[in-house]
Formats: sequence, structure tokens, C-alpha cells
Amino acid sequence: MEYIWLARIGFVIFSNGIDFLHFENLYFRVIHDIAGHFIQSVFICSIYSFTELDWIAFIPAGIASVIDIDHFYAAGSFSIKSATKLQKQAPFHNLLLPLGIFALFSLLKRFFKSERLLTLIISLCICLVVHLYRDGIRRGVAIGQYRSEPIPFAAYIFYITTYTFSVEILLKLHASPKDLATEKLILP
Ligand SMILES: [Zn+2]
Repeated sequence: MEYIWLARIGFVIFSNGIDFLHFENLYFRVIHDIAGHFIQSVFICSIYSFTELDWIAFIPAGIASVIDIDHFYAAGSFSIKSATKLQKQAPFHNLLLPLGIFALFSLLKRFFKSERLLTLIISLCICLVVHLYRDGIRRGVAIGQYRSEPIPFAAYIFYITTYTFSVEILLKLHASPKDLATEKLILP
């Protein structure tokens, strides 16, 4: 129980602190960006999978951190310089991705009996949303063809904290009535 609060507080402190570091060197900036996404995602996976923390719990963190490869696709080049100066929108950097994954899973969840899969899908969606919002501080957040203005830092912290802490609501909405009745789904 205390552990999950440590992970939550760690996530908020880390998210507040990581973007105060600035590097002149382009390669350090890229490493800083990727490491920031990955560590935030690791915190999120620890929060959502706190009852079962093995390597599988961190697969969503890996997936949410590698979506930046779409910058190379959008730039049409493997050059880090072109990938960081995109004019076009990178295809995975769109809120439709986590919303689509969540909607698809909600439609198909009757075919999957695994509670674990539900936790992993929610972890993945929240990791993706937090990734998109963090990138949104500089570029705004895209949904479909629309792109918002850059998000103010305070609003970013507010949004990502709210999404990350909404674990109870999301899991309860998707828990089967049987699990809720027997309180098999132990929530903090
Ligand atoms: Zn990104």
C-alpha cells in the first residue's frame, strides 16, 4: 500500500524535475527525451501493476517509449537532425492512438478473460497519453488532424497527474461485477 504511494509521488516529482534539465548537444537532448519518457512510463507501470511487478508489467513502458521512431518515418530519413525538426505530424504522436487502443480493447474485452491484459492495456494507454502530453509542452497535442497550442507546464503536470491517479476509476469501470462483489480486485 505504501509502495504504490511512493511510486505515485515519485512519478509526480520526476515529471516536475526532468524537464528542468537542458542540454545544448543534440544527442544528449535526444537521450534526455527518451530516458524521460521511459522512466515516466516505468513509474506508471509500477503504479498500475503494483500487485504483479515482473518484466511483463514493463512491456507498456517499452512500447510507449519507442513510438518516437515515427519521427524518422515522418522525416523520411534516419537522420536525428531531420527527425527532431519535423514539419509534418508524426503518425503515432496522436491521441487517437491511445483512445483507439482503449476503445478497441473495450469492444473486444469479452473475448479476453485475462485481468492482467486489462491492466497492461490501461498502463499502455496512460503511458502513451503521458508521452504525448510531455511532447505537447513543445509542440502541442494532436488529435486527428487538429493540433493544440503548446501545453503550459502547470497544465501538463495537472493533466498527467490526474490521468495517472485515475487508476481506480478505470480499473473499476472494467472490472467484472463478480470481481467487485468478491473484492478480488484489490485497490489501494
Ligand atoms: Zn515523442
